[in-house]
Amino acid sequence: MTPKCTRCRTNPRLARQRYCRSCATAYNREWREKNRPAINKRRCEAAEKRSSGQKARDKARSALAMAIRRGAVKRLSVCEAPECLETALFAWIADLGRPREIEWVCREHREIRRAELSEAQAAAARRAALAEVRSAFDVGFAALPERVQTALREYAAKGPAGITLSVEAPLYKSNLLRAFEAYRSGRFVTPGSLSGS
Ligand SMILES: [Zn+2]
Ligand SMILES: [Zn+2]
Repeated sequence: MTPKCTRCRTNPRLARQRYCRSCATAYNREWREKNRPAINKRRCEAAEKRSSGQKARDKARSALAMAIRRGAVKRLSVCEAPECLETALFAWIADLGRPREIEWVCREHREIRRAELSEAQAAAARRAALAEVRSAFDVGFAALPERVQTALREYAAKGPAGITLSVEAPLYKSNLLRAFEAYRSGRFVTPGSLSGS
């Protein structure tokens, strides 16, 4: 015979518990009510600790969840990646500013999307860094001491296999940018030409 709930002393207990189902539910609700301030405080603290990236992701995810509940976004049953037939799916949000424009993909294709995204972000960071060096070059190169300009130009003119590059060569231009950036960050050292001041 199943032992009786220790609370209502009427219904049978849940397996390995003191209470029946309805008493367990009531007990949990009472516990939450009693501890509401502590629970809310902990939630707020956890929310505060999130990084801005995490906050943006959470915001996009909750907007998406809302759109799904309202029926504005439909769940699909098969991975959207071409020729993939997986049915255990995740919503992939490529652009956090457009949380409803999603792709339903399987775990593997989600990993692929993540890799593509971080590659795209790394490429964007490289482009931004290069643009920054270019604009610093436009302003700063002409302001360098004449002998530094000469040393950087000499460095830039050195092509592969000892050939001398013309100032029109794309490689000359990228060498000059690289040399300028190295000089600016203190890494460009040419014995003799730059020593002394
Ligand atoms: Zn009970
Ligand atoms: Zn897939």
